[in-house]
Amino acid sequence: MSNRKSELETLRADLKARLARYEAHQHREGGALDKDFEEQATQTQNDEVVDSLESEVREELVQIERALERIDNGIGDECESCGEEIDPRRLQVLPYTTLCVDCAGD
Ligand SMILES: [Zn+2]
Repeated sequence: MSNRKSELETLRADLKARLARYEAHQHREGGALDKDFEEQATQTQNDEVVDSLESEVREELVQIERALERIDNGIGDECESCGEEIDPRRLQVLPYTTLCVDCAGD
């Protein structure tokens, strides 16, 4: 379990670094008014991609924080919904999950 915790902490640090890069990207590209239309179209697409990546990362971070909190409370192996023990193999694949396979529906 402490293994899972350090894995989650590493993952969290990675995601935070990615988030900082996305934010830097959004700020840097903000004032690009003198590009021709085609470039602007590409630019907009890039921004949309970065936006959706950014919100994905944010959601993952929320999930990781919650999983870490549950580990700290000694209930990291319990399903948040039904209270059953989460399959360790599932936790190995998805260290940030807080739901058992039945409740997650995947
Ligand atoms: Zn469950």
